[in-house]
This record gives sequence, structure tokens and C-alpha cells, in this order.
Amino acid sequence: MGEVAEPAGAEASAAASAERVDTDVLIVGAGPSGLMLAVCLAKLGVDAIIVDGKSGPTRESRALAVQARSMELYDQLGLVDRVLAERSAASVVVPGAGRGRRPFGRVPLRAFGTGVTPYREITVFEQSRNERLLVDALGELGRDVRWQHRLERLDVVAGAATSVIATVVGPSGSEFIHARYCVGADGAHSVVRGALGVPFEGVTNEHTFSISDAAGVTGLVDDAVNVRITAEHFLLAFPMGPGRARLLGVVRDGDRDESGELSEALVRGMLEREFGVGYEASAWFTTYRLHHRLAARFRQGACFLVGDAAHIHSPVGAQGMNTGLQEAHNLACALADVLVDGMPDARLDRYEAERRPVGKRLVATTDRAFGVITSATPLARFVRGRIVPFIGPLNCTGTACPSAWCAASPPNSGSRRTCSGVTRVGRGALDCAPIAPISCVATGS
Ligand SMILES: Cc1cc2nc3c(=O)[nH]c(=O)nc-3n(C[C@H](O)[C@H](O)[C@H](O)COP(=O)(O)OP(=O)(O)OC[C@H]3O[C@@H](n4cnc5c(N)ncnc54)[C@H](O)[C@@H]3O)c2cc1C
Repeated sequence: MGEVAEPAGAEASAAASAERVDTDVLIVGAGPSGLMLAVCLAKLGVDAIIVDGKSGPTRESRALAVQARSMELYDQLGLVDRVLAERSAASVVVPGAGRGRRPFGRVPLRAFGTGVTPYREITVFEQSRNERLLVDALGELGRDVRWQHRLERLDVVAGAATSVIATVVGPSGSEFIHARYCVGADGAHSVVRGALGVPFEGVTNEHTFSISDAAGVTGLVDDAVNVRITAEHFLLAFPMGPGRARLLGVVRDGDRDESGELSEALVRGMLEREFGVGYEASAWFTTYRLHHRLAARFRQGACFLVGDAAHIHSPVGAQGMNTGLQEAHNLACALADVLVDGMPDARLDRYEAERRPVGKRLVATTDRAFGVITSATPLARFVRGRIVPFIGPLNCTGTACPSAWCAASPPNSGSRRTCSGVTRVGRGALDCAPIAPISCVATGS
């Protein structure tokens, strides 16, 4: 990305032939994070354009669980009834320790949410459905995603009301989108983050995750999140309706065939051998390497990063999509405060101040959890294989909170508190009062 006063030379002649579009906020990427941002900005009356290089919403299920805080956001947007009508719900976690052993017991999730949230279960509502829900909501608000429009280049303009010029290529050629602010919601390989030169710090894990969206599943407790652990392997299973489940497993090098390939047949064999879990067919099977990374900055000048563009981590805890949804909501409120209510630009600094610590803790928590699950030391194997089956039933009283889920829905700027501590009903359809301590600095109240 360059910082330029105005387009010059070859760019100037290209600029002359390409269409120019002006907006207050350019959102790059129409995954869950970008779509949530677009819907919130539309509700809040902020001028915005959203572009995505794909031809439409994702068809893969990908992220599965909608956490309580995200349900509260859908509630604020008037969308929660649509989710409740289509979702399946898991209200217990059933831990266990491998084949032939009885599950430890049942950890009731509802108890943790009592008095905290009306959404006390894990809502199973796939990413593809979240995206469709938000695309429809955006359309009902009179706005559309510009599909098949890919960001190719981003320039920051110094000292002008327009702060970024984005070169976007679509089916009918290039256009220059001039915007006051740009949000990179463009996923793990973010072009915006790359253009800004923001480091994506962290590690790539040596292990591989497998995902099967399976039908005709046997060996699991129904309507529950099943967690199984053995000395070598780990399985996390989310219910997806009668007889169906998302099976997330950690695969070791020893599970691969001689050529290093990891077929679905091999993974099925491992699930059967290690956990006594079988299935008839899968609608989706994939494997992927895990990364734990966090962007060094969530804001740089007129540009922001949200969702996977800002952090990636293991799916243990099912928080990737949820964190992005919650960041988008936070940032939308900040942008509306500045662009609609005329608050100083410094108000936007609170997005990073409020959300980066959440992302940092999330990446650290999931990295630690993943380390415990996958460590190959003899001690770790012994603990997983011998100690956990022994002490697990003693500890599983139903009062211990699975820490990954506790970290999933931290209080954020959707909190109802304001500087004065007075409960605010919200900005029209959206309740987006900021968290108190930082807002007191920024607003002077
Ligand atoms: C195989 C797989 C399984 C997963 N399973 C889970 C799970 O079980 N639980 C969970 O919580 N999370 C899971 N995740 C992670 C979850 O999918 C992400 O956290 C979530 O999609 C992040 O949303 P996002 O909107 O930030 O980014 P994305 O969903 O990645 O969306 C980014 C969008 O930006 C667009 N884009 C990219 N570059 C450009 C460009 N230059 N110009 C225009 N558009 C661009 C892309 O087309 C895409 O639509 C999984 C991910 C994968 C890949």
C-alpha cells in the first residue's frame, strides 16, 4: 500500500478511464464479519459499500456454533427468531475418555447462563446459514453485496477527506472506490492487512484437524456436544440434527498412509478405533493445518481489521465466527458515533483497545487448549490416557465451566453500560453503548 497525495502517472490515466465511486465506509469481504458490519451500518444509517471476490455466500457449513453473545446481537437486529426457527440446540456437554468407557457425565450449559443471557445453550446454525441470514437482512435494508468484486490495491491518501482509494476489479472492469474508512473483513489471507503491512504474529501448528459433517452417526450421546480424549487423539462432536454431527478430530502423522495422504477412509478408521464412533456418509469432509495468529494492530489510520483478518486459531471452542461477528458490531457502533453523531475520530481507537485484548486472549486460550490436547510428551500421553479417565468423572460435577466457552462471549462494547453507568436502550434498533472506562476518555464524559 502506498501513501499518496493523489493518483499520478499511469495510475492517473487508469483512474480517468475507470469508474469512481464514493462512500464513507468500504468493507472488503462478505463473510460473517463483513456482512454483520454491513447490516449494522445499514441499521445505523452509515453510508457503506461491501465487496467480495466470490460469486455469493459460502455453501460450506464451516463454522457451526452461534454463541450466546452473537445471539444477543441477532436479537438486537431483529433476526434472532429466524435463527431460533432453524437452529438445533445443544444444552449439555458430554465428556468421555475413548472407546469402551462410559462418558464422565453431563455438564449442563444452561446453568452457566442463568441470569446472564436468555440464550443459554449452544446454538447450532452453520456459517452458510449465518451468511444467508445476513445477506437477506442487508437486502431488506435496501443494500446489496457487490459480489465478484475483488480488491486488488489499496492506497491511503494523505491529508484529504477521502482517506483510502481502493482499486476493485469486477465483471465489468476496474473501479476506484474512494472511502473515508476501509475495513478488512477479508479473511485469514487478508489483502487489506497485507497492504497495510500489519504483521500477523503467531505460529502454525504441526498437527492437522479433520472435519466430517457426518450422517448416520453412532457412538455419541444425542443432542449434546461430545468431547472425547485418548492418549493419542481428540474428538469434538457437535449435534447437527437427528443422526447428524460435526466431527472434529486431531490427526497425527501416524494416521496418514505411506504417501502421506490423509483420506476420509483413514480418518473414519481412526474415529472407529479410538472412540467407537462411526458414520454412514458425510456431506463435507476436509482437513486443515491450524494457525494461531493475531494482527499486531486492529486499526491503522483509516483502516481496520475484523474477524479472521485480525486473528485465527483452532476451532476448539467454536469461536472464530462469533468473535468476528462481535468485532463487527463493536466497530459499526464506533463508526456510527463518528460518522453519524460527529464524535471525534479518536472514538475509533476504542475498537482496538476493546477488541484486540479479547482476540489476544482467545488466541492464547485456544493455543494452550490445543497444546494440551496434542502434546506428544510421555507425561501428556500418560495424563490423557490414564489420569483423565480416572479423575474426569470426579471433576465433572456440572459446575465447572468449560473455559473455552467462557472466553467465547466476553463483555464487549455491546454492553448496556455507558460512561455514566446508566442503562441505555440503544441507538434505535441497535444497542451499542460502549464499555465504560475507555469511553470516558474518548468522550470526555
Ligand atoms: C474448513 C474450515 C472449518 C472451520 N470450522 C469452524 C468451526 O467449526 N467453528 C468456528 O468457529 N470457526 C470455524 N472456521 C473458521 C470460520 O469459518 C471463520 O472464523 C469465519 O469464517 C471468519 O469469518 P470472516 O468473515 O472474518 O472471514 P471469511 O469467512 O474468511 O470471509 C472473508 C471473505 O473475504 C473475501 N475476500 C478475501 N479477499 C478478498 C479481496 N481481495 N477482495 C474482496 N473479497 C475478498 C472472501 O471471498 C470471503 O468471502 C472454519 C474455517 C475453515 C476454513
